[in-house]
Amino acid sequence: MSIRIGRLPEDDQSNGWSALLPPRRVNASLHGEMDFDWLVVGAGYAGVAAARQLAQLQPNASIALIEAGVVGENASGRNSGFAIDLPHAPGISEHGIEQGRRAIRVGRFALGELDRLVKVHRIDCGWEKRGRYHVAVTKQVAKRSLAAYETHLRAWQEPYRWFDRDELQEALGTAYYGAAIHTPGTYLVNPASLIRGLADSLPPQVRLFENSPVIEADIRSSRPSVRTPNGRIRAGGLILTVNAFSQSFGVYSARQIPILLFASLSRPLSEEQVRQLGSEPTWGVTPAHGMAGSTLRLTRERRLMIRQGFEYSPGLRTTNARREKARQANLALLRRRFPQLGPIELEHFWAGWLAVSHNHAPAFGRVGPRSFAASCCNGSGIVRHTASGMFIADLALGHDHSLVADFLSQGTANYIPPRPLRDLGVSLAFSYGVWTGRGER
Ligand SMILES: Cc1cc2nc3c(=O)[nH]c(=O)nc-3n(C[C@H](O)[C@H](O)[C@H](O)COP(=O)(O)OP(=O)(O)OC[C@H]3O[C@@H](n4cnc5c(N)ncnc54)[C@H](O)[C@@H]3O)c2cc1C
Repeated sequence: MSIRIGRLPEDDQSNGWSALLPPRRVNASLHGEMDFDWLVVGAGYAGVAAARQLAQLQPNASIALIEAGVVGENASGRNSGFAIDLPHAPGISEHGIEQGRRAIRVGRFALGELDRLVKVHRIDCGWEKRGRYHVAVTKQVAKRSLAAYETHLRAWQEPYRWFDRDELQEALGTAYYGAAIHTPGTYLVNPASLIRGLADSLPPQVRLFENSPVIEADIRSSRPSVRTPNGRIRAGGLILTVNAFSQSFGVYSARQIPILLFASLSRPLSEEQVRQLGSEPTWGVTPAHGMAGSTLRLTRERRLMIRQGFEYSPGLRTTNARREKARQANLALLRRRFPQLGPIELEHFWAGWLAVSHNHAPAFGRVGPRSFAASCCNGSGIVRHTASGMFIADLALGHDHSLVADFLSQGTANYIPPRPLRDLGVSLAFSYGVWTGRGER
């Protein structure tokens, strides 16, 4: 039975990362009726990885990858560009030591795969192993979250180094943070350039259709099919990789929470402003308090990037008034961190959606006789959903991958009560989280 897709992604053409890139040739949209062996819906990190893995394991299969908009303009191209090797924030998540070890194995595998693809296909995306500074503004968060993080890093025998306020001032040019733990394994990247490069280097048996929103889908039959405004595809098997939009397909609605985030890129800093920053030519900062804190970067184009805001967004939409408020907040937070730079100006500001689960576990598995879905990136999808995309293709083909057990050792996304109970619970939990972390803003 077909269902109509209620909520489609909208591209407001505001993504700052893609605005820095040269124009790209966009693939044709779907026209007419077509048949494929496999259909992957959604060309983000998960969808591109799934399509590549299908092609690798079944070189003679015909594969369609269908994308509502243009590759690089949705979350995969709008994120902060941290390809993180370690569990995101173990101090505040449920990751135990052994689960963390298993997550690291998966993360390193996916990061290795991304590193290989960037090199083989010469993807010019600023891919740089710079590590990340995991920062706390206040003593309380340093003591609670960073100290817990250190305990995990020690148990995992992962290298790290503490930075105090003066050392951070010297390295980054801001005295705003009281303490940080630097771990060396994270890569920084222009995410729009990375996802474009990954999609444009797919093997020839993968046919990518862009500007082709799926408006109707039958994922429960033994021959799944989708309809777009001008075409229809029937396939032997279907893989759904639409992350926050899974709920529109009637999938994982009771297991994942859609989240809205806001980010900005400044104008390029002047030579004089760059002189007033620290000794590191590029760097990335992630907040120890994930809900209230900000992600920050100095890019190789000498721009500052900030990501702030963590909002429950069940409708996957926001308003112009809300955007403007968030833009002003981004600007104020940036200026507060770098008062010596004078009036920093923002050149780009955008919003993006992702999905998290209550227990930080992925939503992953079979959703119909011949349909599979991978969702719930939990905020670190560059690496995590590269793995998830590969593994869902393995599952669809019945291929054993030695790391799937590690990937699923966190379990799968647990059940969340339906709306309106969920709206109340999540809103209260988020408001409380942001309030307790207010000193980290
Ligand atoms: C502001 C922001 C900052 C972030 N920072 C980071 C970070 O630094 N590091 C990190 O690892 N992660 C970060 N994330 C999360 C990261 O972007 C996601 O984890 C990642 O994009 C998930 O990949 P995905 O392929 O599962 O989903 P998506 O990237 O969301 O891709 C899903 C695709 O499905 C398409 N789609 C949806 N509905 C349909 C339909 N009906 N028909 C056809 N196509 C459809 C969408 O257009 C989209 O392109 C951030 C996210 C945001 C928004």
